[in-house]
Amino acid sequence: MPALPLHDLHAHSGLSSCSSDPGMTARAMLDHAVAHGYSVQCVTDHFWDELVPGASDWYKPQGLAHVLRNLPLPQDDRVKMVFGCETEFVGGKTLGIHPSHYEDFGFIAIPPNHFHMKGFVRPASCNTEEKAADLLVERLEELSLLDLPWHKVGIAHLTTGLVFTEGDPKLVFRLVDERRFRAVMRAFARLGAGIELNMGTFAPGWQDGPDDTLRLYRLAKDEGCRFYLASDAHHPAQLDMVPERAGAVVEALGLTEGDWLRL
Ligand SMILES: [Zn+2]
Ligand SMILES: [Zn+2]
Repeated sequence: MPALPLHDLHAHSGLSSCSSDPGMTARAMLDHAVAHGYSVQCVTDHFWDELVPGASDWYKPQGLAHVLRNLPLPQDDRVKMVFGCETEFVGGKTLGIHPSHYEDFGFIAIPPNHFHMKGFVRPASCNTEEKAADLLVERLEELSLLDLPWHKVGIAHLTTGLVFTEGDPKLVFRLVDERRFRAVMRAFARLGAGIELNMGTFAPGWQDGPDDTLRLYRLAKDEGCRFYLASDAHHPAQLDMVPERAGAVVEALGLTEGDWLRL
């Protein structure tokens, strides 16, 4: 079996408000990536473009000039460092990055389910697991209709607990309609987007109990999607989630060389 192609396409530096950790730097990410033989390390801070109206108060300070402070990224011959972002999708056609700035980023992680941001990403009327499951698929469908540089777009943390913090996120994922989900994954496969395997989802014990953690990823694979690994780290120690957890996830999904997103 070939060695696992380790990489991390979603990690936050201290510039992200949810990190604010002075020790979480692009240099710390690169050093970690070199130590673990990664092919690619991406820096993806939260970002809402000033050119797109409607930023929440939380996003307002996290504009372009703010995230650009990480440039130039440190370099090393052994690891490709990519400057990216995690922007926001609030439905309809409203994405937190303006087309004129697509070229500023080598990777754009888009979460369809930051539903903890109530009144911004999630409307108040979405108040049950059933509605959250519907909204998740609807957001994916809306997103797939946008004209984006899809070869460098990632669908972030499909199965994050943030999808329904006041209830049962796993129930939300079980309630996702298979036919609609398959159709939208087929669209992402055709477009060339990547589906994120967010290691935070795969906490120790994830393989115990009903086999529902991987359900949506299996469907995505079945429809031809490509995948990428992500720590979504906010602090240096969390970077270890990729080397610690990726092997079991990749094996369970049966991913092989052609299944990876290539940046
Ligand atoms: Zn996120
Ligand atoms: Zn993130």
